[in-house]
Amino acid sequence: MADVIIIGAGLNGLVAANYLAKAGKRVLVLERRAIVGGQAATESFGANFKADALHAGGQLRPDIVTDLDLTRHGLPESKSEPLISLLPDGRQLRLTADDSSETLASIRALSTKDAERWPEFVAFMNEAASFLDSAYRTPMPRLPHVSLSEGMPLAQLGLRLRRLGARDMFRVIRMLPMSALELTEEWFESDALRAAIGAVAVHNSTLGPMSAGSGYTLMHNWLNRGGPGNERVEGGVGRIADALVTALKSRGGEVRTNADVKTILTDDLKVTGVKLANGEEIAAPIVISGADPRHTLLDLVGAPELPPEFVWHTQSIKMRGAVAKVHLLTDGNHGLPNGTVIIAPAIRYVERAYDAAKYGQISQAPYLELTANGNVVSIHFQFAPYTLRDSEWSQARAELERIAVDTASAALPQLKASIRETKSLTPLDLEKTYGLTEGDLNHGQLILDQMFFMRPMPGWSTHKTPVDNLYLCGNGVHGGGGLSGASGRNAATAVLKG
Ligand SMILES: Cc1cc2nc3c(=O)[nH]c(=O)nc-3n(C[C@H](O)[C@H](O)[C@H](O)COP(=O)(O)OP(=O)(O)OC[C@H]3O[C@@H](n4cnc5c(N)ncnc54)[C@H](O)[C@@H]3O)c2cc1C
Repeated sequence: MADVIIIGAGLNGLVAANYLAKAGKRVLVLERRAIVGGQAATESFGANFKADALHAGGQLRPDIVTDLDLTRHGLPESKSEPLISLLPDGRQLRLTADDSSETLASIRALSTKDAERWPEFVAFMNEAASFLDSAYRTPMPRLPHVSLSEGMPLAQLGLRLRRLGARDMFRVIRMLPMSALELTEEWFESDALRAAIGAVAVHNSTLGPMSAGSGYTLMHNWLNRGGPGNERVEGGVGRIADALVTALKSRGGEVRTNADVKTILTDDLKVTGVKLANGEEIAAPIVISGADPRHTLLDLVGAPELPPEFVWHTQSIKMRGAVAKVHLLTDGNHGLPNGTVIIAPAIRYVERAYDAAKYGQISQAPYLELTANGNVVSIHFQFAPYTLRDSEWSQARAELERIAVDTASAALPQLKASIRETKSLTPLDLEKTYGLTEGDLNHGQLILDQMFFMRPMPGWSTHKTPVDNLYLCGNGVHGGGGLSGASGRNAATAVLKG
């Protein structure tokens, strides 16, 4: 019998599985799909049509790579790419997390003053992101009852903040609730530069750059991307999960695909195992779920098994997916420059793209992020809300594809003629195929009232649940969001502590 069952072979489930197997536990990972990786899967959509289905780039935290010896198990290097904003006059703004001459020259073409401030901005953002990284590793106490041992890590985090120095400490604290618009206005005068940073801030969130808290999401995305661009894994993001599976097997763990968990079995608020869709029951004294908290608690455990107030909190987790993907198989003459390319020419353009989502509409002028892998161009589309006011996703797919291609082609004139096949993934596909409730790729929005000790909900930030020995490890819990693996590691630590 397994000591621990993990639901979901997303990166966080696999990271948790590896830490536990390394600590000597017999681990069984159950994944509903035929492939591993969750949102970080590289998939084939037809002959010569292979792409990173959802997530275009990213890497696990370097210390997780080292702890789990993942390079030896086949994890490839990742390469940092610049963020390239295509501007309406044909110019390109190229941003990297350094003060390379290319970056500075491209900013200088817009504003000499902004080019002078860029190195200081990058240094500050790196400090802020590194503080956030420390926060994501710090176990959050169950407020309001904080014991001395739970309070200590928080006190150490406070010290870490203090060590940033008075100026940066205040800047970091101020940045969290600020909007990306306010923040960028304090640093830069060029609207195109503000827009590029604002786009990074709202990437993956149902927020606009004028929304409170987009300062925090900028810090979060800067941390996960390693700067404004993306870290691209050679051979695709799917190779991260492959390396984690190889490492897990070498530690005696097992992964079963096509194993859809339908029920988490409990007895008097104590976990006893799981039941699969095919009726098979598997017993285990500990179950960890890498699926989103709402699906885990309301669908798999079931509201009748849980305390009413906890059910109410779970139902209140804000899940608001508004991201879609459009993959294009081209003849290779797509004209995309090397890098992570965005269509976000002005900060108000990005805000208006978000406005549409507020009213249940697909943005007619969306913020796009494009990446190429050989002949395949992948378009990340914001905003495409899960719930459409005047239509349904079964009818709106063609409109999504048309807007994506028309918007991208306006900046990349060769693109349209190069397209041979199209594969789009709507927010409804994110729910049905990838198991993301309401298409929310963060398993719960990254917003101020759902972060740190309030993630996934107030009082339950310790990875535990009211069901004894049922833990949560996916990106809907503290440390989560992105490919970092932080919430998987945090959950494994909580399980080992008991
Ligand atoms: C379009 C898109 C773009 C993104 N871009 C970025 C980015 O630029 N930067 C960034 O930081 N993050 C990005 N992300 C988010 C990032 O991919 C996720 O944060 C990360 O992959 C989450 O990993 P996870 O393991 O927590 O969850 P998931 O990858 O969602 O894994 C959960 C797993 O559980 C499985 N599962 C669910 N229910 C069951 C069940 N009942 N039984 C068995 N298995 C089950 C699922 O199939 C899945 O494999 C993006 C996501 C998307 C969709």
